[in-house]
Amino acid sequence: MIIDSHVHIGCFGRFDMKPDDVIGSMKRYGIDYSLVSPITGAECNENLSPLPDDWPYHQVSANEEAIAFARRNDGRIGVLLWCRPRTEGFNDAFAALADRGGTYVKGLKFHPYYSMLPITAPQVEPYLAFAAESGLPVLVHSADDEFSQPRFVYEVAKAHPAVNFIMAHVGLVTDNEEATELIGALPNLYGDTAWVRPEAGRKLIRKYGAHKLLFGTDNPIDGPDTYNHPFYRVYLGQFREWVSPEEYDLLMCGNACRLFGLS
Ligand SMILES: [Zn+2]
Repeated sequence: MIIDSHVHIGCFGRFDMKPDDVIGSMKRYGIDYSLVSPITGAECNENLSPLPDDWPYHQVSANEEAIAFARRNDGRIGVLLWCRPRTEGFNDAFAALADRGGTYVKGLKFHPYYSMLPITAPQVEPYLAFAAESGLPVLVHSADDEFSQPRFVYEVAKAHPAVNFIMAHVGLVTDNEEATELIGALPNLYGDTAWVRPEAGRKLIRKYGAHKLLFGTDNPIDGPDTYNHPFYRVYLGQFREWVSPEEYDLLMCGNACRLFGLS
């Protein structure tokens, strides 16, 4: 059983992530279940310029699309609601959306870069209170830019011990060292393997245990064969020889099942 805990749909800038590519690639590469968030929830363009005036998505409509995708693929797709804390914020419409999404909603997703807002910002707090109340884990993009610093995810996880946080990318475009230490320092903080060198993934597991890392990829961000990237070929292949069968099972599905309450 393999669960990809970091998958997207949506057409945004240079990305065109089709639901059909998600399903097709899952079949081709043996992925059983994906946790999907809609990149159309982004709050700015890739170069941090404002979205065009006629941008068709908002917090509810972007996530509705993901929930509809999950409904069409019952048992294979779950949704992480993409949050827009800077331009919209937590409101009744968002709470109602989470309610409508029912059991398809498995967590929340924040992208501090595409929100131009650190996860430590006060606008994020009401979402985190909701996550605590609803038992939803929170996936947070982390990278070496001013908004997405790994230590911000650590700070917010420390302040919210009742919420489980997954630090996506273990610090994208870094050597992963600082982010790995931070993940090891809190019981409610985890990492995912999206664009993480397999050697760095192995190091994290050796140091802090296989319960701290989840298989995640950003599929299908590089198209229908994102899983064929050299990193993911290793995670899906020889990585199983680098760790024990129990550790491999935790990485590839056990941790996601536990954190997201999947059966
Ligand atoms: Zn992502």
